[in-house]
Amino acid sequence: MFDMAKFVEYLDDNNDLKKSLIKALELVKEDIHLGKISIVNTVLCENFDFVVDENIDEKCQIKYCHDEYVYIFFKKKDGHNLNIKETEIIDIVLRMVSMHHEKFMLIKKAKDAEFISHNTHLPNIKGFMKEISKLRENVDIKKYNSYFINIKGFGLINKIFGSKQGDEAILSFANALRDFAFDDEVVGHLGGDNFVAFINRRRHEDFINLVTMCPVIIKQDNVRKKVNLIGVVGYKVLKSDDVTYDEIVSHASLACQYARSTKKIVVESTNELMETINSVKNIERTFKEELENGNFIVYYQPKFDIKSGKIVGVEALARWNKDGKLIPPGLFIPILEKSGEIIDLDLFMLETLCKDIHNYRNQGHIIVPASCNLSRRDFEFSDIEDRIINIIRKYNVQTRDIVIEVTETTNLEEKDRLAQFINTMKKNGIMTSVDDFGTGYSSLSVLRDFKVNEIKIDRSFINRDELNNSDEIIIGSIIDMAKRLNIDVVCEGVENEMQANFLLNLGCNNAQGYLYCKPLPKLEFEAFMQKVGTVYDKEGTVKK
Ligand code: C2E
Ligand code: CA
Ligand code: CA
Repeated sequence: MFDMAKFVEYLDDNNDLKKSLIKALELVKEDIHLGKISIVNTVLCENFDFVVDENIDEKCQIKYCHDEYVYIFFKKKDGHNLNIKETEIIDIVLRMVSMHHEKFMLIKKAKDAEFISHNTHLPNIKGFMKEISKLRENVDIKKYNSYFINIKGFGLINKIFGSKQGDEAILSFANALRDFAFDDEVVGHLGGDNFVAFINRRRHEDFINLVTMCPVIIKQDNVRKKVNLIGVVGYKVLKSDDVTYDEIVSHASLACQYARSTKKIVVESTNELMETINSVKNIERTFKEELENGNFIVYYQPKFDIKSGKIVGVEALARWNKDGKLIPPGLFIPILEKSGEIIDLDLFMLETLCKDIHNYRNQGHIIVPASCNLSRRDFEFSDIEDRIINIIRKYNVQTRDIVIEVTETTNLEEKDRLAQFINTMKKNGIMTSVDDFGTGYSSLSVLRDFKVNEIKIDRSFINRDELNNSDEIIIGSIIDMAKRLNIDVVCEGVENEMQANFLLNLGCNNAQGYLYCKPLPKLEFEAFMQKVGTVYDKEGTVKK
């Protein structure tokens, strides 16, 4: 007689669907004249057969359907006619097979989920490391690089197009990575806009080209838009067989973080870089002391009138002289912003700047407006305006000589605070400038709502090998709008003549960038100014 309890017990082996089903079906083979059971996926048109007896009567079938699956019983070809009782048993057997199959798939899904990112179906971090361990048995790891990729400004895509479209963009990016990877390579998705990869070194260039400019299509209101996703990449050249998680993922991830904070696109994780990053990690502990000991210094980068070559302004940029090594602000400013100590650095920079202006004026030099950067966190201090004004007064500097650079805000509350700040500055005759213009999502409303004197177009707009028509339209309309609103426009990061001419053609007269002058320490800056004029010879012309 059909032993239900035993049948269920045999089915309960969840490790191997085939084994458990065949074992359970063997048990009922005599009682119900079973030849074969098929599980057919109606969506994927896939078919699994569990053959118990080769001698099958294709005509005698009983079906049970559940979800996307049909479970089909085939009778053994033995001339026996099934009676009602047997048909009932077969129905129960099929239902139980279906329940077991469903349970098996659920367990498999849960097991897979441990290793797979559910959004893109690429391996997650666990899956990524597991795949690499598997590969290590067959490939020479020293021939590979590991990569950590973060998509630049992805928050902006979510804000502009919506999070569903954002998910689609991530999926397209993931598919591009999947299509690129060969069998001996692995790509993974850590969630959000972070990806990892393990790629053969000889394909490094191709891989970088793919991830730093990856076109995806975003659909919105039935309109398809092409958006280029820019992956910011940190990578590590793997050198030994014994590569650890740290080397494969953490080092590449730190290099990526470094690239982001120093506004670079691709950064290699070298030992030297890792040492620098580690040494900066504890800045919160030593910051006050380092500041008091004069280890933070001001670099100056002039701003130019493109046509005349005249210097029209200068910006103060912070550097940290740590044990004789110069650390760029991208490494320590994010940490000081987190700890809230950035205000001390910003006011120190302003004070140093005011002292210098005071001295230059006493020596009879002409002064061009000088900019100082403020962090968004500084606005949490309700007396920041008073403190700025007091410093300027203390050194007898004219307010029109000072420009305060601020960045676009992300939320309404911050926006109100920023508007209040800008108005107070204006009332006191201090100019304001919006830095990194175009990288926030509120750019255009900034022009309308804030009474700023200047915008600085972010260097990502022109920092490309080729400038195309849509760059021209975007930058051109920003410049037009600003001009009509009587706002000065400066473009930052100008590195070559092509970019300078491009800007001139669009009506942007002022620029800052390596083409003209890198940020310089005070003495070199003074020497530069002496050579090119402006502050020293009252002419202000760059002699080319
Ligand atoms: P920023 O205010 O946008 O400054 C411009 C950055 O671009 C500077 O980097 C400058 O050295 C760099 N740069 C200038 N011309 C070119 C060019 O032609 N090509 C390229 N590739 N880069 C160019 P730096 O000095 O490393 O400063 C990075 C950022 O750190 C600054 O970006 C600013 O946001 C922040 N920062 C610097 N000093 C201070 C400060 O005293 N306070 C605050 N809150 N932030 C600061
Ligand atoms: Ca700036
Ligand atoms: Ca900037």
